[in-house]
Amino acid sequence: MMTEADVIRAMREHLEGLFPKVCPVCNRRFASLREYLQLTKQIGSAMPYDAEFDDWMPENPVGTVTFANCPCGNTLSLSSEGMSLRQLWSLLLWAKLETNRRGMTAQELLNYLRAEIIRQVLAGPEPGRPGN
Ligand SMILES: [Zn+2]
Repeated sequence: MMTEADVIRAMREHLEGLFPKVCPVCNRRFASLREYLQLTKQIGSAMPYDAEFDDWMPENPVGTVTFANCPCGNTLSLSSEGMSLRQLWSLLLWAKLETNRRGMTAQELLNYLRAEIIRQVLAGPEPGRPGN
């Protein structure tokens, strides 16, 4: 069974793998997740679509998405797209158990995880040097 730390590590590794990322409107290039978090502004709630649809083992996942505004005003997104089904399912299984245990909605849990990841990325050492 995964722990919260395992879940955060898996999500963070997936997100870091989405970089570098380029804003299609202003062509600003975000070299890393850290730079992206420093320069963009989070907007709204993270959206765990599959969990919200009560589909915790989706064969064709809609995905989980979080939005932020580029300094140019364009809305950028980071999503679970590209994550293997096996990994996505293990994260969703953890989320299903934890939402029940903590009395949180999937969205509340995901927002909590997002805040934790942001805090760790902005506070921690440079990525690429796992601490284990
Ligand atoms: Zn932009």
